[in-house]
Amino acid sequence: MSNLKICRMCNIVKDLNDFYDINKSKSKYCKPCHNKNRQKYRFQKPKPNPNSKPKEKKPTGFQKLSKEIQDDILYMISVKYTFKEIAEKYKEHVKYKSLCLWKRQDKIKKYE
Ligand SMILES: [Zn+2]
Repeated sequence: MSNLKICRMCNIVKDLNDFYDINKSKSKYCKPCHNKNRQKYRFQKPKPNPNSKPKEKKPTGFQKLSKEIQDDILYMISVKYTFKEIAEKYKEHVKYKSLCLWKRQDKIKKYE
């Protein structure tokens, strides 16, 4: 009885025991190749897109703003913009109330 099967990936003929059962039939790939595939998939999937836009959800802390926005806000504070003006400029990202809260909690560092 020949229980052999060729792996579609490494092209090596192997025993059927070297193949996983998938949906009641044998996988196209041997176990080592199958695992390699899965690892590759797992590594690729969570990679964040560096060009992705900031999330729609409002940030809950000053530190969660992007570095550029943080720097710009610090700069605006240092040149005496009011929180209202800053909140107006960054209304997509920051609420006026948040700015006041962060200021009170001392979360906004001085511009250096
Ligand atoms: Zn293989």
